[in-house]
Amino acid sequence: MRGWGRMWIFGSCAVLALLCLYQCYRKRKQRKILDAKLRNSPRNRSAYLGLRNQGSTCYLNSLLQCLFLAPNFTNILFNYIPSHFRIWGQPGIVYQLQKLFINLQYGRTAPSTQEITDSLGINNVHQPQDVEKYFRHLVNKIGEESGEILQLFVLDMVHCIRCERCDKKTILPNCMLSLPLSIQQPHSSLTDAFSVKDALDNFLKQKELTGENKCYCDLCESKQDASSLFYFKYLPKILVIILKRYEFYNTSFRKLHDKVSVPCELTVPQSSSTEENAIQCMYNLFAICHHHGGVRGGHYVAEINSFEDNHWYHFNDAAVCKIIEEENLLDTKISDTAYLLMYHQQNAHIPSFLEKNQLNSYMQNLIDETLRRCENHIFLV
Ligand SMILES: [Zn+2]
Repeated sequence: MRGWGRMWIFGSCAVLALLCLYQCYRKRKQRKILDAKLRNSPRNRSAYLGLRNQGSTCYLNSLLQCLFLAPNFTNILFNYIPSHFRIWGQPGIVYQLQKLFINLQYGRTAPSTQEITDSLGINNVHQPQDVEKYFRHLVNKIGEESGEILQLFVLDMVHCIRCERCDKKTILPNCMLSLPLSIQQPHSSLTDAFSVKDALDNFLKQKELTGENKCYCDLCESKQDASSLFYFKYLPKILVIILKRYEFYNTSFRKLHDKVSVPCELTVPQSSSTEENAIQCMYNLFAICHHHGGVRGGHYVAEINSFEDNHWYHFNDAAVCKIIEEENLLDTKISDTAYLLMYHQQNAHIPSFLEKNQLNSYMQNLIDETLRRCENHIFLV
């Protein structure tokens, strides 16, 4: 009898163990089907993912989120096969950005930017940095691999200096990745916020160079009164404007906390010479990097308009939230923290994110590999 009892207990345990195993198998299978669905379609875009802060890397996080949601940028990036796959070499910044943006587009948790900081040579992630400096650094580094991506941002400008005495014109071409605009009002007014439109008009206005500012003229072989004028020969698809909030004062830098009015639509003239009629180029604001704090440090966040649903989102490292409805309807944003602005050309094609099956096979494989690694990492944790 005792033998039968033992066998009954053993049998029950075996059945229970088999049931448990079957349940585990079923759950695992269901998860695999769900994961496959997640893998093959971009994640729910109404909730974008944030980026983990490594210490003081909020400047980089804000910038990367602006680029991820920059019209055309991510699709061009995803269609590019990095040079180290074609010729022997180490993976560069384009490959690291592709992997990060795959995580932002298809992943489930805020990814780390460690491989990006390594690739950019950022040794001290606890050191606060300037977002404009790292925008130029990042885009130049991308440009070493892909001229097409770099070209999205290149602003072709001309500086024309005309001698008042002999009328000789000196043309100085200048290519830039961002346009720095002064936010100091020519006529001080304490009530109104200085507009980006006024700052642009001031920048493009002809200025007289007299007194201490006289220019040396080759033809006159002496310093002469002159006029100085900037104009745009070629405007980029993505126009980056820097509001000059830092100025040298006495013996050190100080930050200007002036309120600036940032229009959602901006008209920028483009001309091939000063005499010719300028073509008006329309731009739409889609991203603002805000800097809170002073010269010694602070915090960066980004405010971005998604080209997918036309809503504004607030990106604060790993936290992302939708901005309240009323703010989406404003045609001007007034801010004392706006620092780096991104506009896209109104006539430029605004795509949706490409589906996985629209990408080349290199990218499809990279998506699978990146997500597999990500899942293994989650499993190990
Ligand atoms: Zn002269």
